[in-house]
Amino acid sequence: MLTRIEGGRVIDPANDRDEIGDIWMGDGRIVEAPLDARADATYNAVGKIVMAGAIDIHSHIAGWSVNTARLLLPEFRLGSAVRPGTTPASSAGWPAFEIGCLYAAMGFTTVVEPAVSPHYALHAHLELADIPIIDKATLAVLGNDDFLLSLMRAKESAAAVRDYVAWTLAATRSLGIKVINAGGAAAFKENIREFSLDDVVPSYDVSSREIVKTLQRAVTDLGVPHPLHVHCNNLGIAGSADTALATIAAADGLPLHLAHLQFYGYGKEGERGFSSAAAHLAEAVNAAKSVTIDVGQVMFGQTVTVSLDVLRQFKARNQARPRKWAILDGDANGAGIVPYNYRSADFYNAVQWAVGMELFLLIDDPWRVFFTTDHPNGAPFTAYPEILALLMSRDLRAQWIATLPAAAIAVTTLPSINREYSLVEIATMTRAAPARLLGLWDRGHLGAGAVADVAVYENAPDRAKMFRSAALVFKHGALVVRDGMPTQRGFGRALAIEPGRDRAIDRRMKAYYDSRYGLSDDLIKVPDHAIGGPEPFELVPCAR
Ligand SMILES: [Zn+2]
Repeated sequence: MLTRIEGGRVIDPANDRDEIGDIWMGDGRIVEAPLDARADATYNAVGKIVMAGAIDIHSHIAGWSVNTARLLLPEFRLGSAVRPGTTPASSAGWPAFEIGCLYAAMGFTTVVEPAVSPHYALHAHLELADIPIIDKATLAVLGNDDFLLSLMRAKESAAAVRDYVAWTLAATRSLGIKVINAGGAAAFKENIREFSLDDVVPSYDVSSREIVKTLQRAVTDLGVPHPLHVHCNNLGIAGSADTALATIAAADGLPLHLAHLQFYGYGKEGERGFSSAAAHLAEAVNAAKSVTIDVGQVMFGQTVTVSLDVLRQFKARNQARPRKWAILDGDANGAGIVPYNYRSADFYNAVQWAVGMELFLLIDDPWRVFFTTDHPNGAPFTAYPEILALLMSRDLRAQWIATLPAAAIAVTTLPSINREYSLVEIATMTRAAPARLLGLWDRGHLGAGAVADVAVYENAPDRAKMFRSAALVFKHGALVVRDGMPTQRGFGRALAIEPGRDRAIDRRMKAYYDSRYGLSDDLIKVPDHAIGGPEPFELVPCAR
């Protein structure tokens, strides 16, 4: 079965292609055009834009913390059912089924859930398996767990840490490792409420910096393609830019990914002691070639913050709107659920919005800045089309700026920025770059051999409309969306990585779980048969 997408503008930055042409698909992959140019099915894309399926590297779409948010806020879901599409807050209540359909409608075909506590990996994968159409992956969270901190306290070898990280990846079926407020959650358990990069975790005598560096080294040495994914300390506070700058400097030329940098883009200037430090941060990112970041753009409206940064969420609990929240100080990282309403009339929220825009526009290289709202923390992922439109139009940004508090805009550089993203830059940031960052060689591009995940858009001047509702989306070569509506709801797989390890770690972990908790180490494992279906996981190769 050969399928041709005919005559569209093919934008494929990974293969340096931007031209009118055809895309051919066969057996779920992109193929070269056959000599006789005969197709079994042809889709007309004349006048349209053709890109690879988009990839989201950081979106909280599954797992027990996301589910706790749903259970805490049933009214959000009610709002969505009664008035579909009118309550952005319904992000908290979206069931797995809707998440898959809504992502696919925008042309997204792979999404990473970036914060899975290893002990809840099975829950996360069971929920991900219920999300239709798209492929998924998880990042496992380490850095506040007793085993790693004990290894470090005992000054065990780098090889021991590597084996533990490799064991965690294999057991939890994850694609990478994330660290969230390294050591901060462990310190929080001992009633510490302020925790920075050089602070030390009581009982373990290791600093946050040492945890980040230890994990960065292990991930790099194991050949895990995705760099250590870091949620820095001090999220959301005035002066957090200093922490981000110190963390960028700590990368030491090795790969490091900083998540949702917008939430660290704050200085202490101005009358209210809260200002944008985005220009300063962007300069540091531009200079640090081994560092990548995603933005975590804020948009205005009701949402819910869901985070394993329990120290930060505990601090934010009094800002909950509606006034209810949940904090769990249990498993290594714990978690916090705090609903929040970003208001355009609010000075701080307006600065946050501007900081995100500044980071997108001031970081030069679209291969190193990634497109996220930290869904649902900055905004639900359904806000993506509006954000893309803002990045592509200075005039549209000016219209928004005119509605925001002047005092807020005055502590940013946003009005002076003229840059407008091109479609090629959008395709780089949302397709080619995330595939490379995650080590997915056969995604994010349209060259022969790539998975046939393809999105076709009307070339509409209203970019938000264009990106909200793809004209056609193909998943593994099958048509799954037409005119923004799902046409077929198959189920994708979860992408995982399994670097080599000394199997002695398996026996050690079994003994550890037994002696420390009286539990089987099966607690942490995600076997194929638990998920069901043929081949629920796809193994991604290591870098070496
Ligand atoms: Zn996040």
